[in-house]
Amino acid sequence: VHEFGIAQEVMKIVHERAQSHGGGRVTALRLSVGEMSGVEPEALRFALEVCSRETSAEGMSVEINKTPARAQCADCRAEWHFGPDSVECPKCGGTKIAIQGGDDLRVDSFDLE
Ligand SMILES: [Zn+2]
Repeated sequence: VHEFGIAQEVMKIVHERAQSHGGGRVTALRLSVGEMSGVEPEALRFALEVCSRETSAEGMSVEINKTPARAQCADCRAEWHFGPDSVECPKCGGTKIAIQGGDDLRVDSFDLE
């Protein structure tokens, strides 16, 4: 995963939205990153810091939320928090599962000053 490319995209979204709110300094940014997306929060935080230098978002605080992936069993419809250690249905041991979420990246909100 290329955290710098993601950070550039994120900053583009933030600057566009900031402009549509009349501009100003961005002081805080909150993101949600799916835990299955392969994005390293610390690497992304660093990339955002670099990408925001000499912009109106320089020095902003960054909060990164990890959103979990959910798995559902195709046989018994049980749902659980999907992870490398839980690829089988905890209820019936089935391996026919559907995975939802956990691979997305979202700008939740940011603060303007
Ligand atoms: Zn099951």
